[in-house]
Amino acid sequence: MKTCSRQADAAMLQAKHEGKRRLGRIDPSLPASRFARQALIRRRLPQALESAGFSLHYQPLMDIRTGWCPAVEALLRWEDPEAGRVSPDEFIHVAEHTGMIHALGLWVIDEACAQARRWADVGTARAVSVNISPLQLAAGSLVRDIHACLQRHSLPPSLLSIEITESAAISDLASAAAQLRALMDAGIGVDLDDYGTAYSSLSLLRELPLTGLKLDKSLVDTIDTDPTSAVLLAAAMASAKALGLKTTAEGVERESQLAVLKDLGCDTAQGYLIARPLPPADLDNAWAAPSDGGQGPA
Ligand code: C2E
Ligand code: MG
Ligand code: MG
Repeated sequence: MKTCSRQADAAMLQAKHEGKRRLGRIDPSLPASRFARQALIRRRLPQALESAGFSLHYQPLMDIRTGWCPAVEALLRWEDPEAGRVSPDEFIHVAEHTGMIHALGLWVIDEACAQARRWADVGTARAVSVNISPLQLAAGSLVRDIHACLQRHSLPPSLLSIEITESAAISDLASAAAQLRALMDAGIGVDLDDYGTAYSSLSLLRELPLTGLKLDKSLVDTIDTDPTSAVLLAAAMASAKALGLKTTAEGVERESQLAVLKDLGCDTAQGYLIARPLPPADLDNAWAAPSDGGQGPA
């Protein structure tokens, strides 16, 4: 009986994780260890904020033309004494389900602004891009919260961007569009993340105020080996360019992918080829600041 309710719970969380209007199916073949892990994550997550279990790692975003990395993406990390290292793919949807995402999302924005301020103060200014959950957009206080963080850390809006996912925007298009417009008008970047993973991408480009498009790893994976993939990526990039949007390719792992992206005129590359997400101290050591004229290790 207990196992059954745990399985139902896991199926429901999985359905939420995959997006709206999905059915969760109980899969008896899933190992019990996976249910136990999910239960552990649900139990440990509420204390993680108070016990300083979270940190941000930063992954460089490389300007393909110059080789410099004037910006980074902030990626949440959680290290728990019992659960060990837990990846965002395991805990973000749990935080969304329990409502904790609001406090956690605010902590992320504040910490990213604090770090961007530290970099600016030591002469290695980097813009920081922060992932925003659909629920943060739905709550309606995002614009106010972001302005409060910028003010608290005296950070210029040009040093902050947000990344929203397609599902984030779809749930309430009019409200999302108004908030994104307000952020853009204030000089904050707004990127559509994981572009190419949902069916409504093209209509969203028309509806949403955006400054950039992040092309999902699945679109980028085989551009150097499969001509059809390269054609599809070129088409997505042409749409972005026609709308005046900056393009970022996600999940770049090989030089040959980077060469294709360069040929296609993609603006920015992100991926293990350039650097993995790093704690701020390692990033300081590994990367010369753009103002020094230095280039990354890629
Ligand atoms: P994302 O925003 O699309 O972030 C990119 C993910 O791809 C990151 O995974 C990054 O580590 C991974 N990645 C980057 N380059 C490569 C590569 O070359 N190869 C491969 N295989 N992977 C690469 P991560 O850090 O596990 O984050 C997963 C997702 O969790 C993120 O996807 C984002 O949707 C979500 N997430 C992370 N931090 C936050 C946060 O602070 N708030 C919210 N709401 N979501 C977050
Ligand atoms: Mg992202
Ligand atoms: Mg992405």
